[in-house]
Amino acid sequence: LIKRKEELYRAAYSDILTGVPNREHFYLYLENRLTDTFDFGVYNDKRTRVRDNMTLITADMDDFKMINDLHGHNTGDKVLIGIAQDLKALSKKNGWYLARTGGDEFSVLIEEPMDQNTIVKIVQQIKMIYYQRNFAEKIVFYTSASIGIARYPEDTLRIEDLEKNADRALTLAKAAGKNCYAFFDPSMHVRTEQDMIIQNNLPEAIALSQFFLMYQPQYGAISKKIVGYEALIRWDEPTLGHVPPSIFIPIAEKAGYILSIGKWVLETACEFAYKMNEGKNEFVVVSVNVSAIQIMQPDFYETVIEITERKRVSPKWIGLEITETSVLTTVSTYEDVLSRLKGAGYHIILDDFGTGYSSLHYLRDLPIETIKIDRSFVTTLGNNPDTGDVLRLIIDIMHLMNKQVVAEGVETEEQLHFLTDSNCDIIQGYIYSRPLHEADIHKSIENEI
Ligand code: C2E
Ligand code: MG
Ligand code: MG
Repeated sequence: LIKRKEELYRAAYSDILTGVPNREHFYLYLENRLTDTFDFGVYNDKRTRVRDNMTLITADMDDFKMINDLHGHNTGDKVLIGIAQDLKALSKKNGWYLARTGGDEFSVLIEEPMDQNTIVKIVQQIKMIYYQRNFAEKIVFYTSASIGIARYPEDTLRIEDLEKNADRALTLAKAAGKNCYAFFDPSMHVRTEQDMIIQNNLPEAIALSQFFLMYQPQYGAISKKIVGYEALIRWDEPTLGHVPPSIFIPIAEKAGYILSIGKWVLETACEFAYKMNEGKNEFVVVSVNVSAIQIMQPDFYETVIEITERKRVSPKWIGLEITETSVLTTVSTYEDVLSRLKGAGYHIILDDFGTGYSSLHYLRDLPIETIKIDRSFVTTLGNNPDTGDVLRLIIDIMHLMNKQVVAEGVETEEQLHFLTDSNCDIIQGYIYSRPLHEADIHKSIENEI
């Protein structure tokens, strides 16, 4: 009979796919931290109850939907099972409670006093579990997780708020660009409301002409001449004022508006490229930032071709910046559409190099001709002598692979000299120019003539 009871308990409270406690068990478990009368069943009969301190860490996989969409749900399931196994092992070793609290979300509850540094170390361990997962047939997933952390009693005196708080922190971590973690902070209430306003007002923003593009010039390191412009989207929202793209782009991606925004950006940038290049002997490359979600669309190639033809621009005038941190996944996913675009004459640029999983292996295989070194690298140049060595090495390796190197976020003379000295090809940053309004660019060209 006892065995039967255990079976029933397990059936009701464990997640079928991964075998770890499910959401219902998680709630029950948290709830009953308030009382001492609960039968914890098979999962934690040996657990001692320390109610003084609790830390809840909720990890949500970034772009899990893409793995499902690209490789099917079977593969998605395998990824989840693998992650659950590793999380289980880690939790068991340390005596933590683990549950699957959502489709691609796991929560770890730690019931002992813990300082912030120790929590951060644990978060790093959890993130490592997501980083590289190998599966059958040479598929390597570069997955990542966004993580929210909430603590009792520091953040709340109500245990029942723990989960809500971790969730708020998680939302913030996602909005900060994924692959991040965030501790709950009471000011986050404001933040989530703001996110809702953003999400509600995004769909109309194109129709109401609230978006505009600014263009930041890029200079040849040696020629010191403008060789291109990066198009950067701006949004003046009537109630919120200026909303930076780092805030609204992730929301647009999540809420499904990024495709129409991305099209508008490319169309507008093409019009600019036409004005800059039509009838000239020399041309500048106008680059747009492309979201991973856009590239994933089966008709991305056709869309790009259609827009550029309609706007009468030559593909060689257009650069497409894709980010390294886009979780993705298999090399082959991108390879096909990118090589077709490259074959058609577009410049393919890897943005934010150095912030993600910089694997030389996938760089070699991808049809990318330019890499853009992330600003965080350039910023640490003066402070950390190692950064300089690494940067030089990266530039040399990229040149060996026949790739061009752009440095972004260059602000000081010192950084500029170092980069020029190290044979960096193109410089972008405040040292030369901030992003400019289109009208100002045309005006300054007129003045030159
Ligand atoms: P990103 O593509 O890496 O763009 C470079 C960012 O660095 C821009 O921020 C630019 O204004 C800023 N920046 C350039 N030079 C300097 C410098 O010397 N110092 C400092 N401190 N900053 C510099 P911005 O415009 O806020 O854009 C942030 C990010 O938002 C972009 O990063 C890009 O990932 C995304 N984004 C911008 N426009 C678009 C768009 O049209 N579509 C998509 N999908 N993403 C966009
Ligand atoms: Mg960019
Ligand atoms: Mg960048």
